[in-house]
Amino acid sequence: MRFAFARICQESNCLSPVPTTLADFESAHYLAGPALLAAASPGGREVPGYFRNAELSGFAAAARAAAVEPVPILSAWASSGGKLTADCFATLEARLVEGLGAAGPLDGVFLALHGAMGVDGVRDPETRLLAAARAAARGAPVVTTHDLHGNLTQARVDAADAIVAYGTNPHRDHARVGRRAGDILIGMARGELRPTSAWRSLPMILGGGKTIDFLPPVRPLFRRMRQLERRHQVLAASTFMVHPWNDDPGLGWSTVVVTDGDPAAADRLADELAELCWSMRHQQPPHFKSPAEAIAEARTARLRRRLGVVTMADASDVVTAGAPGDSTHLLRALIEEGAGLLAYAAVRDPVAIDHLWSRAPGDPVALEVGGRLDPDSSPPLAVSGQLVSRHDRPGFGRTAVLAVGDVRLVVTEGPAMVMRPSFYSGVGLSPWKADIVMVKNFFPFLLFFLPMNRKTIFVRTRGATDFDAAFRLDFDGPVHPRDEIDDWRPRDRLRRQRDGGADHQDRAGA
Ligand SMILES: [Zn+2]
Repeated sequence: MRFAFARICQESNCLSPVPTTLADFESAHYLAGPALLAAASPGGREVPGYFRNAELSGFAAAARAAAVEPVPILSAWASSGGKLTADCFATLEARLVEGLGAAGPLDGVFLALHGAMGVDGVRDPETRLLAAARAAARGAPVVTTHDLHGNLTQARVDAADAIVAYGTNPHRDHARVGRRAGDILIGMARGELRPTSAWRSLPMILGGGKTIDFLPPVRPLFRRMRQLERRHQVLAASTFMVHPWNDDPGLGWSTVVVTDGDPAAADRLADELAELCWSMRHQQPPHFKSPAEAIAEARTARLRRRLGVVTMADASDVVTAGAPGDSTHLLRALIEEGAGLLAYAAVRDPVAIDHLWSRAPGDPVALEVGGRLDPDSSPPLAVSGQLVSRHDRPGFGRTAVLAVGDVRLVVTEGPAMVMRPSFYSGVGLSPWKADIVMVKNFFPFLLFFLPMNRKTIFVRTRGATDFDAAFRLDFDGPVHPRDEIDDWRPRDRLRRQRDGGADHQDRAGA
């Protein structure tokens, strides 16, 4: 038997004005054909620089265990950013369809998707990919994996034979869910399994506190899902905690349970998980500090600064959640209020890089930085100082380091996922020596900075990843926590009606 596998994966932030293009995929991660099969096989590196083994390696392992042939199509991944352009999506979709069409007879298709991808002018683009894959594979079964921040719709649930989400946050089980999805797909094609899904949709976009799987309040939810999956008849149990910056009227937490031929059990368990989620709705994300509060707090943490560093997460401009990375609010505060504190900061600005590229290290420089990609969130900032060094770095593009008072400012041309110490150490800035290090990430940096991080401060200013920034989008009714809601069930019933989204479809397509 032969099973195709592919990935088209990006988490979109509809509030970012910087569109995601084909070049963003092709420069971040793009593999096809034999190179993809090698990357997903033992000894390969599936997504170089990010994952040795992820969903596709897990799927390939399931294929090996079942002695079936895995047929590589394509794997395209881009870092979080604004919505895909219509062109970019159409090209990726066409390549997927062509690849499947050219693959010969197939017994099934495995698609690794994010679940929170947005496309300019297309509502629910991942459902379209699932439907296109099924058509191209002449009706063969299609199983998909999603990030647990995906957004589900009735059309999505209908388009896949099974949906399996990550069961960890921060995510560290990509390969495990790929393996599980592969086992379901192959079992179904062989007639050994009859996957049947049920789901629930909650009118809730924030809750569950920090939503870390091994910490309260969500820990019992994750334990319950793992417990259910140990039951013979439950093939997968998932909760989607939603990426709150997706433009979909039906945005909200959801649950989905896949059983082996037992629709009543799937329905009962999806409902039970939804009740658990709803019970945690009042536990909101933590309150973040203002830049002035954060700097004052870092200043008093003398011993911690001497033994390591204080990390400041720029929570309004989290590049790994799709923000542009060009906010100047925290940078301005560090320059104006952080005298005496050696601070490493980052800003994305291709225009400033053009200007700096003609200068030599040691030159005095005076220019405006930031606030160009997303001027509605923050204005450009005038800085003056000295050019320290210049670099050309894979993933970040041309990069310059400036000394501006006690701030060492790393200016990048491309998207800068500031979450690892190597972002700074790679340009000669050891985080051990700094008092403050700015990151543009919510959680994974805590792991990467563990050796030197002595204190973490989340800072809120104004930007595309403010938790409440999405409250101004259009929804299909009241949403928690923006609005008061007594009962989640009426909206769940509405969203699970098969024609429930038809009017929105027209609106988005117009
Ligand atoms: Zn996620």
